[in-house]
Amino acid sequence: MSPLPQSGAHLVNSLTALTSPSHQEWLEQTLHLALTHRQQGGRPFAALLVKEGKLVASAVNRMLEAGDPTRHAEMEALRDASQQGPLKGAVVYASGHPCPMCLCALVMNGISAVYYAFDNADAAPFGFDSSASYDRLRLPLSPPPLPLIKLPSPIPASALYGSQHE
Ligand SMILES: [Zn+2]
Repeated sequence: MSPLPQSGAHLVNSLTALTSPSHQEWLEQTLHLALTHRQQGGRPFAALLVKEGKLVASAVNRMLEAGDPTRHAEMEALRDASQQGPLKGAVVYASGHPCPMCLCALVMNGISAVYYAFDNADAAPFGFDSSASYDRLRLPLSPPPLPLIKLPSPIPASALYGSQHE
């Protein structure tokens, strides 16, 4: 597969034009990034890392491109953002509820909250949920280890996760 274009550049420009994007606006940008990545042949996940109201990293799931199952969007965002300073207190916006691997990395690095659009129940019909891994690891999410906040999505889960040929 040919390398995908650097998908963060446009986002940085559009979001820095806003004085202070809301959680909903950040999340909608995340969904847009995930959708674009899906349309380019990647897995339909994206994450933004925002600290003190500023976008530090935007990332997509690189599993298919890299042949590496650990390259989830949240991990990619952490990896990129950590090159630019401490992550403690940053907020992560994710298109889907974080899987256990990502949630662990987010907690270990002091992320203060995660806002996401689609939960495991939304993703399950399309095979993109991580609830089986949570069950096997015996990791209950109530109470969650950090605030995990679901916000409304302007698009249905099927628009992101469903067949691209619908
Ligand atoms: Zn993950």
